[in-house]
Amino acid sequence: MLTKYMTIVFDDGPLPFMCEIVDLFNEYSFKAGFAVMGARINDDTEYMLKYAIDNGFQLVGHSHSHPKLETVSREQVIKEMTKPISYVKNRIGYDMKNWARLPHLCRDESVLQICKELKLILLGHGMRCGSDWLVDATPENIIHETLDTACDGAIACMHVKEHTYQALKTILPELKKRGFELVNPDELFKIKGKTDIPIGIHIHNINEI
Ligand SMILES: [Zn+2]
Repeated sequence: MLTKYMTIVFDDGPLPFMCEIVDLFNEYSFKAGFAVMGARINDDTEYMLKYAIDNGFQLVGHSHSHPKLETVSREQVIKEMTKPISYVKNRIGYDMKNWARLPHLCRDESVLQICKELKLILLGHGMRCGSDWLVDATPENIIHETLDTACDGAIACMHVKEHTYQALKTILPELKKRGFELVNPDELFKIKGKTDIPIGIHIHNINEI
């Protein structure tokens, strides 16, 4: 069976269940990314970031406070997207570099232009994952949609939530069985030989760039 590679990037942490997700991925020798918000990083939550890094997971930026970027000023967009990078670097010495996922997966042209100027690699959403950000999302639907749309090269968008964690208990062994390897975003680009990564546009599936 030919190995298929994809990455899941979990948004909105650090939040409860982040470390549990890491542990679950470790059971299958899988990796993932976490798109973290600067405003959620403090003395009480910092250990979650360290736990992810120590286990070889990748952190990427997800803005400071999760605003709708199209509604704020240019200066504010720049601040929102760059602040978490220096914040994480100063606090725990980890460099998220130019990896990011925009809050609300913002598609506004002028915001994307600013992201291009900031040379941000924008991780998109190449699969449906049962709208797991909704409070009433169910593990059943998350499992169903994720397994239905999983494909080679996909960059999936999920969230650090309990129902997502519960769904992953079924999703991960099934993906393993189907010949998938789940890796960090940067590893996915390397494995696929993509060195010239486009900036300032959402990348949903790496086979499309
Ligand atoms: Zn988010």
